[in-house]
Amino acid sequence: MSKSSLSYVHPSPTSPWGTYLSQVDRVIPYLGHLARWSETLKRPKRALIVDVPIEMDNGTIAHYEGYRVQHNMSRGPGKGGVRFHPDVTLEEVMALSAWMTVKCAAVNLPYGGAKGGIRVDPKKLSRNELEKVTRRYTSEIGLIIGPHSDIPAPDVNTNGQIMAWMMDTYSMNTGATATGVVTGKPIHLGGSLGRVKATGRGVFVTGREAARRMGLDLRGARVAVQGFGNVGSVAAELFAEAGAKVVAVQDHTGTLVNDKGFDMPALMAFSKDQGGIMGFKDGEQIDNDAFWDVKCDILIPAALEGQITAERARKISARLVLEGANGPTVPEADDILAERGVLVVPDVICNAGGVTVSYFEWVQDFSSFFWTEDEINQRLDRIMVGAFDHIWAKGEQHKISLRTATYAVACERILIAREERGLYP
Ligand code: NAD
Repeated sequence: MSKSSLSYVHPSPTSPWGTYLSQVDRVIPYLGHLARWSETLKRPKRALIVDVPIEMDNGTIAHYEGYRVQHNMSRGPGKGGVRFHPDVTLEEVMALSAWMTVKCAAVNLPYGGAKGGIRVDPKKLSRNELEKVTRRYTSEIGLIIGPHSDIPAPDVNTNGQIMAWMMDTYSMNTGATATGVVTGKPIHLGGSLGRVKATGRGVFVTGREAARRMGLDLRGARVAVQGFGNVGSVAAELFAEAGAKVVAVQDHTGTLVNDKGFDMPALMAFSKDQGGIMGFKDGEQIDNDAFWDVKCDILIPAALEGQITAERARKISARLVLEGANGPTVPEADDILAERGVLVVPDVICNAGGVTVSYFEWVQDFSSFFWTEDEINQRLDRIMVGAFDHIWAKGEQHKISLRTATYAVACERILIAREERGLYP
């Protein structure tokens, strides 16, 4: 791993920012003359740390730490979600923002990369407290976000309601309703049809394309999914609809297996109702660690970073790994999977469906003209397939992994923009 040249983070080789730095180092040999700009990719443009104080329902005052990092805006405004999680750190948000830069360029959207987060467990807040945290955070980062500068969206533990509060707060502070300041909003507030399922759909589309090239028939293929939220549940549902069997599911409540394949609509309804999969009757509970031993053809990590460690990579039986989550595979594990002939579709293309439909939402908000769900899904499919084809060809050309190929395509676009714009002043 290259050493961080920044004084304010101290990444380890397996931490999110350390993982990102290694991924950048691997692409430098393929950047030609643009390599002289590569340090740009290893530094966020701007990082804002904010205090988020609120009065709790019981009258006490709580303080939460919040962040908004704008990694790179060479190709357009910053774009990236907001995560509410008690373990969020500045370093993690930096990595997530950098992955957004790469992802937006990989699918050729006119955006840079950004990300935000608050160190809070929203499950421990009342609705009133959650709204206060969201609004105060939005006001604090209001200095740097905006429809033309940086556009947040949902991520782990944030949703359409939180986006509605963010949009309202920003609009109140600026004196005009600005629907384009966030994406992932409810439909009647300028949200887009198809946005909620877009990330999972993109995971399915890239998985389908990869499987076709590998000669892996989706009908009867065994799928294991870690994380059964917005991304994991939708991706699993689409694979099941295509004839695959979802044989293992893990979420924060535990791990369930079903050799015949889960009834997906029933499991999704149960999980939505109960806040997790545990207790679903048509599944056998196994140890969380045993999830990585389950026999499967396709593995979808769709929870958090750093889940596929070197040790787990040695035992994964899947032929195809689809990174629904951001940063689920540490660099050493990536090498082990490659040596074992496991194809990894990297996060920066695999889960780009969400930001692609966020882009559609933003465009629709500016024109106040809304598309049908079919139009959205068709355009999403077209963009994802086009991007995947391009990246696949790059990988074949240089005999490199899909991850390095995606970084090569994306970093070239980012650094060409940087070079053409020139350094200010
Ligand atoms: P979510 O909050 O809807 O779901 C997260 C899921 O992960 C839940 O099922 C939760 O139970 C599970 N989980 C949490 N901790 C876990 C643990 N320790 N072990 C196993 N499971 C655990 O979040 P999401 O929006 O589905 O995001 C999941 C991943 O996808 C994140 O890495 C996120 O950054 C990435 N992502 C999301 C989007 C999007 O549009 N929502 C877009 C791109 C990438």
